[in-house]
Amino acid sequence: MTFHIHTYGCQMNVRDSEAVCAMLEAAGHIRTGSEDDAELVIVNSCTVRQKAEEKAVGKCGNLCARPGRMVGLMGCAVKRLGADVFARIPGLDFAVGPRAFWMIPRIVGELQAQGRPHAGKPANRLELYDGSDVPVGLDAHADSSSEGSPGAFKSYVTVLLGCDNRCSYCIVPDVRGREYSRPAEEIVAEVGCLASRGVKEVCLLGQSVLRYGVGNPVWRDSVDVDPDGFREAFPRLLHALNGIDGIERIRFTSAHPNGCTDELVRVFRECRKVCRHMHLPVQSGSDRILADMGRRYSRAGYLEAVAKLRGLDPEFAVTTDVIVGYPGETEEDFEATRSLMEEAGFDNAFVFKYSPRPGTRAALLEDSVPQAEKERRDQVLLADQERRGLERNGRLVGTVREVLAEGPSLRNRMRWSGRDSGNRIVVFEPSRRMAPGDLVDVEITEAHPQVLVGRLA
Ligand code: SAM
Ligand code: SF4
Repeated sequence: MTFHIHTYGCQMNVRDSEAVCAMLEAAGHIRTGSEDDAELVIVNSCTVRQKAEEKAVGKCGNLCARPGRMVGLMGCAVKRLGADVFARIPGLDFAVGPRAFWMIPRIVGELQAQGRPHAGKPANRLELYDGSDVPVGLDAHADSSSEGSPGAFKSYVTVLLGCDNRCSYCIVPDVRGREYSRPAEEIVAEVGCLASRGVKEVCLLGQSVLRYGVGNPVWRDSVDVDPDGFREAFPRLLHALNGIDGIERIRFTSAHPNGCTDELVRVFRECRKVCRHMHLPVQSGSDRILADMGRRYSRAGYLEAVAKLRGLDPEFAVTTDVIVGYPGETEEDFEATRSLMEEAGFDNAFVFKYSPRPGTRAALLEDSVPQAEKERRDQVLLADQERRGLERNGRLVGTVREVLAEGPSLRNRMRWSGRDSGNRIVVFEPSRRMAPGDLVDVEITEAHPQVLVGRLA
């Protein structure tokens, strides 16, 4: 059967979609570039904010309104909605929660055996599974890149499932379940296999990835045996991956500021392939709001973590997530966030307007900041970040950056784009012999808030 997957939400969803793609292909189904040609369309959903959920559910509803093909919903919104999903989306054939995505090929096979998509819509299928299950197929990678996935020479690798952090506003622990760290040897083998297929860059994924190995043991031997003296599970994993031939770059996301240990800083110093970028969501610059969110660090503690990283290299890229309009956020709290962003000198920032999520602790509080004020705070932070991004990038003009070339730029097909170690987008004119995945030196000639422009050095 021909199939197409639409993916909403974070990198974790992109990775899950790719694994489903690989498993469906292995079962003999054929991926198509567009939903119009597909007999099966799957929507991978997000529910972290109300709007994100509405988008995915709305898309699925539109697909189901046109009969004649099989439609499935997977991901976080399924776990939140449970059996109600079939009332919300009439005609939906199956719905599968985030820890059960590996069951999709079997469900599709069973529905096909019932004559779907052409023999009407008898019973639909729901697989929620509780968060304790460890999905199989976590190491399944498609031969070519699927929608949103990074490309043939870059790959996501899931290392930590779920989240045990319980930040007051966040629905992720409810829908993605308890933390489970994959065995380290399994990850090393997977990355080795990716390297042999030509992958140059891996990005390790986890909601709070620095907690890798905290909840369950991941190394078969004792933690003391790394000959270079790495004792903490995640730094030790990075160190092991750094030794794999063919892999040139190692990234990871997202990092909780509390995991920024001295050993992690040592990894950046000693492991050449570990990129000098951390996505370190701060959420707020107000100690009062941080405490209410249950983030377990202070403004000062956060800035200390940033200082450690910038102590390694002033151009170490630090990016962040911020929430505006959290319940009870005053003008003073907001200004504290603004000043923290200035002090941290973020290279990039994603700003989110607070959205109450059912079942979270914060949803019990009054959503006190009016929507228009959330919009204003959002715009103020984005304008600050534009200026700051330009300043930070401006410092790189005249320097030479090592760039992993990705291919023709979307805006101007005569130019190529790629990323430096700090994950900054760099646009340049390619040479004739250049291939996607090449590492090239680019001298930076121009800076924009989110893009650097340069020429081959
Ligand atoms: N696990 C990551 C972390 O903690 O850094 C990110 C999780 S979440 C998928 C991505 C971002 O969405 C968070 O960093 C937060 O800024 C934002 N977010 C989560 N819940 C939210 C909510 N209820 N309203 C608005 N933004 C939210
Ligand atoms: Fe949500 Fe906090 Fe876990 Fe991130 S660390 S997924 S914000 S609960």
